[in-house]
Amino acid sequence: MIMNTIRLKLDGWEKSITFSASHILPGHEKCGRIHGHNYAIHVRISGEQKESGLVYDFLPIKEKLREIADRLDHRILIASGMDGLRVEEKEVKIELEDKKYLFPKEDCLILDITQVTAEQLAMYLLEKVIEEFDFPDKINTVEMGVDESRGQGAWAKRDLNG
Ligand SMILES: [Zn+2]
Repeated sequence: MIMNTIRLKLDGWEKSITFSASHILPGHEKCGRIHGHNYAIHVRISGEQKESGLVYDFLPIKEKLREIADRLDHRILIASGMDGLRVEEKEVKIELEDKKYLFPKEDCLILDITQVTAEQLAMYLLEKVIEEFDFPDKINTVEMGVDESRGQGAWAKRDLNG
């Protein structure tokens, strides 16, 4: 029997799965200065149709993505792998060659990545979703996208069936 794969997609801009956050990309001429973006998170889920004609119900994944977006919202995003980072009890210190930052820890979110780029954020979000969300067996692949602004972003993809 031939099984067609169906792809579902959720657009974060259209569905208000967005967050505002700031970051620094040390070494970049422009992005090396602290600045912010309005980000949107998207998802694409591929799988087989069930007898009901559905691949998957959008509502639970939409709720999960909003929950994740809320955690990142209005935070300074810091990559745990960045050079010169020191996380203390209440403060986050970054000492670069030519400048120093000191932030209250509660304003920051430290992500287990090496740079807060759209590429790494997409990978981080994909891992979070797969870790925290129970995808049914009929789902084959999950793709997560993050835009730094409308029309510009990165995607990460995982094949759930190995
Ligand atoms: Zn930026």
